[in-house]
Amino acid sequence: MRILVTGGAGFLGSHLCDRLIADDHDVTVIDNLFTGRKQNIAHLLQHPRFEFVRHDVIDPFKFEVDQIYNLACPASPPHYQFNPIKTTKTSVMGAINCLGLAKRVRARVFQASTSEVYGDPAVHPQPESYWGNVNPIGKRSCYDEGKRCAETLFFDYHRENGVDIRVVRIFNTYGPRMHEADGRVVSNFIVQALRGQDITIYGDGSQTRSFCYVDDLIEGWLRLMAQTETVGPVNLGNPGEFTMLQLAELTLKLVGGKSKIVYKPLPADDPKQRRPDITLAQKVLGGWTPKVPLEEGLARTIAYFKPRV
Ligand code: NAD
Ligand code: UDP
Repeated sequence: MRILVTGGAGFLGSHLCDRLIADDHDVTVIDNLFTGRKQNIAHLLQHPRFEFVRHDVIDPFKFEVDQIYNLACPASPPHYQFNPIKTTKTSVMGAINCLGLAKRVRARVFQASTSEVYGDPAVHPQPESYWGNVNPIGKRSCYDEGKRCAETLFFDYHRENGVDIRVVRIFNTYGPRMHEADGRVVSNFIVQALRGQDITIYGDGSQTRSFCYVDDLIEGWLRLMAQTETVGPVNLGNPGEFTMLQLAELTLKLVGGKSKIVYKPLPADDPKQRRPDITLAQKVLGGWTPKVPLEEGLARTIAYFKPRV
C-alpha cells in the first residue's frame, strides 16, 4: 500500500515507518520537525520506497495514498505547552486536513489519540466508555481538548461522510528515539541517571502511570488498521501501573550511579492516576497484548540513551 504518516519523524512515527517499510509498503512522511528529527528516519531516507516531506499539517496537503496515520502533534507536556495555540491548531487542523484527504482518496485514516482525553480520571482503570474529567481552560487543555476535538471530527467524518477511520487512545509509551530533552518522565529519569544528575520527581511521586514499550504499541496500531470490525476508540497501553517514585527507583537500579531523588512542584492538572482497561483491544486485535515488561523495556531504552548523553 501507499501510506502517509504525519509526524513520522517523531519518536513513535519513526518506529511505525520502520514496520511499514519492513512490510513492503511505500511510505511518505510529512513532518515540520518541531519535536521530530531527521536522524530518527536517517536510515530510511535513501530507501526507494520512503519519502520525507517537510510540511506543517496545519496547511492542506494532497497525496494519492491508501492509508493515513495522523501522528503529527507534540506529545510531551513542555513541548505542547510551548506554543499552546499552535498545539490546538495542529490537532484540529491536522485532523481536518487528514480527514478531507481520506474522504477524497478513500483512504483508511488513523488518529493517534491519547489517554489525556480522560483528563484526571475519576474512574480507574479507564475504559473507552469513560467520558473523562478534563479541565477545558488549563495548561494541558490545548493538548487534551485538541485531541478530544480531533476525535469528534473523526467520528463526524465517519458518520456523515463514511470515512474509514481508526482511533486509538495511547497510554504513556516509551522507548528508543525519544528525544533526550523531550521532558517526559521516562526519558528525563534515564538521562538524569546516566548523567549523574538529580532525578526530578514532580509532587510526592505517588501519582501513577502505566508504561508501554514502543514495539507493543506499534503492533497494536497495525492490527487495528488491518481489521474491519472496530473503528475505535480503542485503548492501547500496558496496564502495569507504577508510581513515579517506583519508576525513579527502578531507573536508578538499572542505571546505577550516584544520582539522588529530588522533589519539584507538581505541574497544574497533573493526572493522579492512569491505567488502561485494554479488554477491548485484547478482544478485537487478534489476541494483542503488551509483552515487554517495564524493567526490560527500560533496559532497552537505557541502552539506546547510554552512548548519546
Ligand atoms: P513526538 O513529539 O516525538 O512526535 C510528534 C511528531 O509530530 C514530531 O515529529 C513533530 O515534529 C511532528 N509535528 C508536530 N507538530 C506538527 C505539525 N504542525 N505539522 C507537522 N508535523 C508536526 O511524539 P510521539 O510520542 O512520537 O507522539 C506521536 C503521536 O502520538 C502524537 O500525536 C501524540 O499526541 C500521540 N501520543 C503519544 C503518546 C506517547 O506516550 N508517546 C501518548 C499518547 C498519544
Ligand atoms: N514527571 C516527573 N518528573 C519528570 C517528568 C515528569 O515526576 O522529570 C511526572 C509528571 O508530573 C507526571 C508523570 O511523571 O505525573 C508523567 O509525566 P509525562 O510528562 O511523562 O506524561 P503525562 O503527564 O502526559 O502522562
